[in-house]
Amino acid sequence: MALDEYRRKRDFSQTPEPDGSASPRKKRVGAGLFFSVQKHLASHLHYDLRLEWNGVLLSWAVPKGPSIDPADKRLAMQTEDHPYEYGTFEGVIPQGYGAGIVMLWDRGTWTPQVPDVDTALRKGDLKFTLDGYKLKGSWALVRTRGFGSGSKPSWLLIKHRDEWAGPIDITEFAPLSVKTPDADFVDILATDSPEVWSTNPPAKSGDTGRLFQRIIAQAVAMKGTRSSGRTAPASGPAARAKGRPAKTASEGARPPRRRKGRS
Ligand code: MN
Repeated sequence: MALDEYRRKRDFSQTPEPDGSASPRKKRVGAGLFFSVQKHLASHLHYDLRLEWNGVLLSWAVPKGPSIDPADKRLAMQTEDHPYEYGTFEGVIPQGYGAGIVMLWDRGTWTPQVPDVDTALRKGDLKFTLDGYKLKGSWALVRTRGFGSGSKPSWLLIKHRDEWAGPIDITEFAPLSVKTPDADFVDILATDSPEVWSTNPPAKSGDTGRLFQRIIAQAVAMKGTRSSGRTAPASGPAARAKGRPAKTASEGARPPRRRKGRS
């Protein structure tokens, strides 16, 4: 079964992730194949690319995230197939495998640019187009000789040159959720239980550890402000939490567009 490894790695009494028991998706004739990218702050920040195929989501962990610059070849470590309904998951994994925060960073449909996807996957050269909110146009996944964690192979994710390519860092330019408008990791954690990692965050040291510390502190402050039901003054703790001036490179700046008020 394609989802055995997915289920073996998780304790569904401890995680809000789907257990894959939903009946297989009935494909509508003419409906595109689903794809999504989930930005996952766990022991390290990475982006999980998921392509619907044969009723499950083929999955790759992309440490640096997708790049729309054809000069970049992004390492994409294949991971276990995920259930179809995982594709729109966004939330907090409190403990265990993948503990951290998951943001739905992009979603849409994908179209193979090869006559036979299974053959292309076996050969290690899959060409396809994406039609998401952030990622569009023609791409390739090319298998390398190396291996990722476990027995799954490593691939390279490469943007083909077309009108959707450009020298823009798309993860910096468009860092936020496509599921919860304008939400970043702080917002996602604040709607859950930001205290969950007060003693034992998923990463404790290095850049990721510091990022977790800041996100946890801001989410706790944001939730405290919300639940007290008052409107915070512009200079109050909520404003500081929402302004988040100390962006790190890994979380990125907001795109240059208006921010919706939150309260
Ligand atoms: Mn992940």
